[in-house]
Amino acid sequence: MNKGAFFDRDGVLNYEIGDYIKQFQDFKILPHVYNNLKKLYDNGYLIFVITNQGGIAKKQYSKKTLNEMHDFLQQECIKHGFEFTEMYFCPHHPETSNCLCRKPGSIMVEKAIAKYNINKEKSFMVGDKERDVTCANDAGIRGYLIEANEDFIDIVNKELN
Ligand SMILES: [Mg+2]
Ligand SMILES: [Zn+2]
Repeated sequence: MNKGAFFDRDGVLNYEIGDYIKQFQDFKILPHVYNNLKKLYDNGYLIFVITNQGGIAKKQYSKKTLNEMHDFLQQECIKHGFEFTEMYFCPHHPETSNCLCRKPGSIMVEKAIAKYNINKEKSFMVGDKERDVTCANDAGIRGYLIEANEDFIDIVNKELN
């Protein structure tokens, strides 16, 4: 079985700007991400993004723009010697339609767990909102709450011990 490290996106992997990240120029990767995720990758973790992107349902930005951001994130990480196994996003928003995938729902994490044969006891998720922790716990993995844009190296080290 595999170990999984799951990350919320905005405020955890890239700067939270207090609004949807609507344009590529506003997608800025947090500098500590490379070191932290590389450490997990080198220790055998599969790494995932789990993100709500309700701005797509609200037509604030397109899936194409989102894909540009995610392609960029993946390419930058590959330059640093690691990669994401998969990036899951929920494009829905309750203002336009309900869905099962939006966090705090745990389906995005559960999908990854099933698809990649993840050992829940060895897996965790980091997020900057309470709904991230709820999502993690409902999927059966540990959830850690950080401040937006905060370095989470302590969590990484704790999980590696
Ligand atoms: Mg966030
Ligand atoms: Zn959804």
